[in-house]
Amino acid sequence: MSMQTKGVVLIADGMADRPVPALNGLTPLEVADSPHLDHIAASGQCGLMDPIGPGVRAGSDTSHLAILGYDPYKVYTGRGPFEALGIGLDVKGGDICFRCNFSTLEGTLRLLPDGHFDGATLVDRRAQRIAEGTHELAQAVDGMQIEDVTCLFKESVEHRGALLLRGPDLGANVSDVDPHHEGTVPHGAQGADPPSRKTARVLNQFVLRAWQILKDHPVNKAREAAGKRPANCIMPRGVGLAPHLEPFRERYGIPGACVVETGLIAGIGRYLAMDVPHVEGATGGADTDELALAKMVITMLEDHDFVLCNLKAPDLSGHDASVETKIGAVEKFDHLVGYVHEHGPADLHLAITCDHATPITFGDHTGDPVPLAICGPALLSDRVMGYDERSVVGGALGRIRGFDVMPIMTNLMGVQEKFGA
Ligand code: ZN
Ligand code: ZN
Repeated sequence: MSMQTKGVVLIADGMADRPVPALNGLTPLEVADSPHLDHIAASGQCGLMDPIGPGVRAGSDTSHLAILGYDPYKVYTGRGPFEALGIGLDVKGGDICFRCNFSTLEGTLRLLPDGHFDGATLVDRRAQRIAEGTHELAQAVDGMQIEDVTCLFKESVEHRGALLLRGPDLGANVSDVDPHHEGTVPHGAQGADPPSRKTARVLNQFVLRAWQILKDHPVNKAREAAGKRPANCIMPRGVGLAPHLEPFRERYGIPGACVVETGLIAGIGRYLAMDVPHVEGATGGADTDELALAKMVITMLEDHDFVLCNLKAPDLSGHDASVETKIGAVEKFDHLVGYVHEHGPADLHLAITCDHATPITFGDHTGDPVPLAICGPALLSDRVMGYDERSVVGGALGRIRGFDVMPIMTNLMGVQEKFGA
């Protein structure tokens, strides 16, 4: 006999914190009014979670990969692919991705037969932090075909963007084109092995052709007329080979969905072939409609057995070192959790946690453990009565890693294959 239930993991991005002097040494989570979070803790089991490992400062991408059961040390091959995912490029396993800047070149760029550049000097790596017109510039170079390789390019914020090369026999052992210093000639990319030499050849051609297109682009002509530096070239760096990841459904045998606000985590969900619905009103900011996220979680539960949801607001207030907005963001998470708990199936297994701490006093992610609570019919309740960094210590879940969450959830949900006979 076996019973199968659905599972939800609700993640408050960066909510965990350190003692805040302005709060007399308490944390925003301890101070906030969060009855629903406390209710989950009181009715289920609690503990601490190290998103990656004790003391390891997690990014939101590596932490979500770990919480979804994909070992970031095995699958995270550099920021390139995840940066490209985050801005909405359709990354697939085997793609070669680069982080890029729009930059300013002076002179006439030439590509020599030995794969080095000549004739032009990089005078501004960020093209005066160009903020407008980058979408038009990106469109002018996106979709270029070089040999049998398709080059996809998309702009990000300010002078940033991402380049994706898709084609047969490409390698990722290539050097940067971006020389990282102004006043120098762009480096011709060099490959360390035959597939990487092909990547380098295509990449250098892309950089040359992009310069040929961008130097005469109307956006740049207008910038020059206004006395601004043109964003007349693209400087790739930080190569990464997009890993082949087993789709969520194949790994766990159940359909899953991601209800999230940021491009980066939406990109991870799509990469794992999970359903990632658009949520009207989810802004990713302090003004986001948390109940719109909660309602979408309930909607997704109709035809998915597992849903992950991320609320971004707590992380932003941690980066901004804003105590009041962080307390407000905790309370938004509390509303979200309350709605899902009340409207979800009666036998739902519900986990609440954070993808990392973003403490007010640090202003960035730290490697601190984060509180975790899980409730549902398969769990014996422990003695923890409140959900915060201090109260969960001593709970039945002890101290686990992010990578342990999916085995725990799929065990409770009754959907895990037996290990052994
Ligand atoms: Zn995060
Ligand atoms: Zn953050």
